[in-house]
Amino acid sequence: MEIYLDANATTPVLPQAREAALSVMADAFGNPSSIHGSGLKARARLDEVRATARRVLGAPGGRLVFTSGATEGIQTAVLSALTALRQRRDAGQAIPPQLLYGATEHKAVPEALKHWNALLGLGLEVVAIPVGLDGRHDLVWLREQVSAAGLVCTMAANNETGVISDLDGIAEVLRGSGALWLVDGVQALGKLPLQLGERAIDYAPFSGHKLYAPKGIGMLYVREGAPFTPLMAGGGQEGALRSGTENMAGIAALGAVLDALEQGGTFASLSQLIDRRQRLADALRDAFPGVVFNAPFDISLPTTLNVSVPGLGAKLLLDLFDAAGLRVSGGSACGASKAAPSYVLQAMGLPAWRAASAVRLSFGAADTDATLEEACRRVRACGESLRATCQTPSPNDSPQAPDLLTRFTVDGACCYVVADVASRRCVVVDPLPELTGTLAQWLRCRGLSLAAVLDTHSHGDHASSAQALRDAVPELLSEEAWPGRVDALGWPAGAEVIALGAYRLSRLATPGHTEDSTAYLLHAGGDLVATFVGDTVMPGALGRSDFAQSAPAAFGPSLKTLERNVGLDGLLLPGHDYDDRFATTLAVECEAQPLLDGVLKGRLSAEAFAIGKGVLEHDLAPTQYQTMACGARVACARSTERVELDVAGLQALLGEGAHPKPVLVDVREAYEARLSPNEALAPEAVPLSALINALPRWRALPADTPVVFFCRSGNRSAQAARALRRLGHAQSWSLAGGLALWPEAGASLATGARGNPNAGTTSGVPIAFDAIAI
Ligand code: PLP
Repeated sequence: MEIYLDANATTPVLPQAREAALSVMADAFGNPSSIHGSGLKARARLDEVRATARRVLGAPGGRLVFTSGATEGIQTAVLSALTALRQRRDAGQAIPPQLLYGATEHKAVPEALKHWNALLGLGLEVVAIPVGLDGRHDLVWLREQVSAAGLVCTMAANNETGVISDLDGIAEVLRGSGALWLVDGVQALGKLPLQLGERAIDYAPFSGHKLYAPKGIGMLYVREGAPFTPLMAGGGQEGALRSGTENMAGIAALGAVLDALEQGGTFASLSQLIDRRQRLADALRDAFPGVVFNAPFDISLPTTLNVSVPGLGAKLLLDLFDAAGLRVSGGSACGASKAAPSYVLQAMGLPAWRAASAVRLSFGAADTDATLEEACRRVRACGESLRATCQTPSPNDSPQAPDLLTRFTVDGACCYVVADVASRRCVVVDPLPELTGTLAQWLRCRGLSLAAVLDTHSHGDHASSAQALRDAVPELLSEEAWPGRVDALGWPAGAEVIALGAYRLSRLATPGHTEDSTAYLLHAGGDLVATFVGDTVMPGALGRSDFAQSAPAAFGPSLKTLERNVGLDGLLLPGHDYDDRFATTLAVECEAQPLLDGVLKGRLSAEAFAIGKGVLEHDLAPTQYQTMACGARVACARSTERVELDVAGLQALLGEGAHPKPVLVDVREAYEARLSPNEALAPEAVPLSALINALPRWRALPADTPVVFFCRSGNRSAQAARALRRLGHAQSWSLAGGLALWPEAGASLATGARGNPNAGTTSGVPIAFDAIAI
């Protein structure tokens, strides 16, 4: 069973609201503008709902208009206020030069301000009201600024943090200023006593779907005497304030919710909600020691928790919660390579890591106590799963054994750990500053001894963090890796090879990208397993050689040296992988990179290669992903080739008589797989972070054997499928939409895991990791 903790994004529809909508559609379907019996019945219901809404909102006077939702209400309010300002200006009056909005306002507000300001040709300045660390508006700033404001927009409660605005304080500041006042009441509906009639609020938009009514219905309150301009003209419905035949099903459903609010019994009381928040916060503290809450509880909606956990990114947490059947949402937008931090938390001035890694849990006031209890249990299970897989400190003395190769990435830069389980020795290649804590934790939890921390070259874009990592785990450092006993790249002085049990690491000078560029070759017995090539060769690029510390003339010969030592088909693990290709080979790169092909096949001399490369790097701009481009990308676009396989496609592959049988691979990380094991599909489990271990095995499969990857949302499995396809295995596929869209797979998986036959079949698609908190 999924537990939905994303009520600030939207809510399910209350059963009584569903019934009300259905009955309006089936029986009382009349048009409220008709004057026959059917129409009159609809009109009566419409009037009844409006009257209830007035009571619930404490708004006996003014206008209350049904809209399609809050975004429409906001447009109408902004259009009305700005039209009034324009009329004043057209009449020759001076008008205030600014439009103010809270810096943490939902995007609908500033976007509407900018849109109508431009469309009406007003040319006013649209300015954000700063907020403090607690998320509340800076009233001192507002007091100083208010005389310049024609319209002030401040939400009643924030959707990301739940922070409740000090509406009385704002009212006090605005008193006598002449500014119109819009209060976005979306997150407050049913949770805060707004008492609109008692406040000087001019406009207050609301949305039904945030409080158990369907999407597509909302309300706009307009104070008596506040300017009004209809957004929609037409048949004159809603007293000509909002034309268009009314959404009677939505209105009836909203009416049922408002009735429930008035009558009580359906929604938990404030004290119950506060108690539930406390229990959920306790579970989060148990699961994630060090968790921080991004909004003060005493001024926040009790149904919203916005948290950040040191060392754990939002994507990891979202994947983890999702695997536990907890639907939560990211407080920030995460792209494939880079996380965009939450503008709300940034505006509050929280540290960058908190704004980038925030996760929001928001439960509904109609949830049951049992649901909340189960949510707490699952949150604790998430913590346990992280401890068992060494993501967080664990007293567990027999943690899961690491794979030979584990890859970590930060914004396209790659770091690898090579670990030999038998000897418990490991080497870190190209540590990244952002990962020092994570790596220290990861190594310590597994009790691995650190034989070396190596850099493939002195990096142009960041100082080496090798020493920081050594300093972080002095107790794990083997003698040969002690400071003073290693060279500038971390190689133990005088050593020919670094032995890791049955594995051996040797080095190969490959000057070009930098003078000191070095490749590390990993052998098992006589077999070459993989080569860490740093930025010499990357998927779709060769490392740039226009730095002061580059050796452009040596680059071509180094590539030939590399070919002699690793062959055209040897697996290369790059220092940067901007497009999630994981690994490459010289043969694959020759296809994409004519310069490389030219120098390896002897068509280009070392000089001609260096000249050609210089042309390619002329004016090389920093990439979008980081401050310095580490290679002139000649094939930078993500492959658009479709790797997605739909349900029918997989069924055909799995069907009777289908030959050869597909290899199914679950690429979710171990901490996710533990929470929802997948006996039903019996796949191989190869987490994306360890994908490079299995690439050679899958490449060696017969060409017609399909390899089908799956994960939670289809995102990571598509990366895996593209990577394998790029390495030559054409039958590489990804389960479209991931487990989320595969009810059968989801149901059987969850049944296996928790014995609940309804699991995975309840509601729709979970919020994807890259969803913005709405
Ligand atoms: N304002 C706030 C605070 C919200 O949370 C939302 C939700 O998306 C909106 C406005 C927009 O509401 P609607 O979806 O009804 O357009």
